[in-house]
Amino acid sequence: MKFAGSVALITGASKGIGAQIARQLAQKGIVVLVNYSSSDDAAIALQQEIRRDGGECELYKFNVADFSQVKTAIDGIIKKYKKIDYLINNAGITSDNLLLKMSEEEFSKVIDVNLKGAFNCTKHVSRWMIKNKFGVIINISSIIGLMGNAGQSNYAASKSGLIGFTKSLAKELGSRNIRVNAIAPGFIETEMTEKLNIIQKKTLVSSIALKRLGSTEDVANLVEFLISEEASYITGETINISGGLYI
Ligand code: NAP
Repeated sequence: MKFAGSVALITGASKGIGAQIARQLAQKGIVVLVNYSSSDDAAIALQQEIRRDGGECELYKFNVADFSQVKTAIDGIIKKYKKIDYLINNAGITSDNLLLKMSEEEFSKVIDVNLKGAFNCTKHVSRWMIKNKFGVIINISSIIGLMGNAGQSNYAASKSGLIGFTKSLAKELGSRNIRVNAIAPGFIETEMTEKLNIIQKKTLVSSIALKRLGSTEDVANLVEFLISEEASYITGETINISGGLYI
């Protein structure tokens, strides 16, 4: 297997999109390092599932928003594995509110996890990628970062921020053989979108060209492509995967 022996760190991977990325990369022979911040049961169940299916999976519990926790975790990973080939900055949260009602805390916590979390992880991982002269970084943004959404100014700002972050890093790190891309999913069936009620879902589906929500597999398949050699000339891009919700 061409990926065998490679190491991937996936943040926010105990559930949803991140967990599916971990499953699929493990199936390719990649050692998957699953980060999460609180859901122990879900993370342990995922690790057991991946190992049962013959994959290699280790759990790393840390808060991506905490600079020193991230540094300690990455130092530990490097000590053990000597490298991280793929970094998937996927950890993300929402805390929706209209701007007039949004507290400073609601704004800050979303920026801290979604945007600063990606900075923290990329900052600590990229120096090892530079040493190794290889790396692929994928930032999981959102179409909300491109189109905006009432009640999500904090989330939209964090996800737009990730797109600018991606473009800048692609320029900084390209000469070091490190590619950096963003994925902007539309509405994908996970716990994050479970919060929508039936009427909200129906209205939403009617505005999606393909008339369905996306699956976690849809996003994980794109991650598989972007880390592969077939995507070796793609960097700095934001690829929408929204079933035609945002065109
Ligand atoms: P999810 O099911 O809610 O899972 C979020 C994951 O992030 C969990 O594993 C959670 O683990 C982890 N996490 C949250 N805060 C963290 C922190 N501070 N440090 C480390 N891990 C943390 O979400 P999802 O729907 O799979 O979304 C994954 C990513 O895709 C997010 O960035 C989201 O914004 C983006 N996205 C999702 C959709 C969608 O429709 N679902 C659309 C566009 C973009 P713990 O519970 O252990 O904290």
